Amino acid sequence: MTTKKSQFPLSLSSVIDKSGKLNSRSSDSVRTVMPQTAMQNAAKNVTKNTLTLAARATISPKVLDKTLPSTVNNSSSINNPYGSEGLRREMVSRVAQKGVKDSLVLAALESIPRHLFIESGLSSQAYIDASLPIGHHQTISQPYIVARMIEIMRNSSALGNVLEIGTGCGYQAAVLSLVAKNVYSIERIKALHELAKNNLRPMRIANIRLHYGDGMLGLPQVAPFDGIILAAAGLQVPQALLEQLVIGGRLIAPVGGKNQVLQLIERVSKNEWKSSVLEHCHFVPLHQGVI
Ligand code: SAH
Repeated sequence: MTTKKSQFPLSLSSVIDKSGKLNSRSSDSVRTVMPQTAMQNAAKNVTKNTLTLAARATISPKVLDKTLPSTVNNSSSINNPYGSEGLRREMVSRVAQKGVKDSLVLAALESIPRHLFIESGLSSQAYIDASLPIGHHQTISQPYIVARMIEIMRNSSALGNVLEIGTGCGYQAAVLSLVAKNVYSIERIKALHELAKNNLRPMRIANIRLHYGDGMLGLPQVAPFDGIILAAAGLQVPQALLEQLVIGGRLIAPVGGKNQVLQLIERVSKNEWKSSVLEHCHFVPLHQGVI
């Protein structure tokens, strides 16, 4: 596999706020979100307000708040004294209400400015708990599913090297960077790899490495990984990825075609993996090769 490394050897302090403490409530109800709903989500709430590209280039918390349209379609945002931070807090409490309990994951979700990963015309919808289109028939994942998958993969343990398959716009990689020592993320669509680079660069995140390539092959040159997370659904989990898990490591992936489930695979020993099926989900498909 040929991969191109893009590195961000810069500090993350500008976007981390580790103080976020949340009260999570468990809930049995789990929503299935379909990729096609991303278009519907987007169409439902489009506003004429836009972020300027110039605004996206800078990322201090104060700037972030200014970049959000003043008429964000969220009642609490109007005259909102705490700007996008407040919207994120509300989004995170909805995610917690859906059952995510890991406070580190919830704090990470609260710290990452999701609106900066979404095209300007949709930024007003950044803090609804929904997937949204990012171009090339792909979507930014729903915050709930991002949090849920990371929570399962983390299993309350510290993570060293983590591999993400399907960088997309880079949002999940940014969230992962706050819960893992090193994040490696692979994207097969060149334009999205570039988009993620552009989205992440101003955030100065030091521990993310983006790769352009076929994620089904993993990254043997970096393996083994403590955790592997797939943001696209295959009919089965590629064997190469299973082989790149550390013993005791966890892989979480959507699996299936029309009907998909989240699958957790734990590597028990050199030649033994344990698999469990979790909730229903719906992701864009995992494809072979690069474009
Ligand atoms: N992680 C994203 C979600 C991206 S959507 C987020 O932060 O919300 C899933 C992505 O997986 C798409 O960008 C798609 O191009 C990518 N993808 C699908 N198959 C792939 C493969 N074999 N290797 C790498 N990326 C893949």
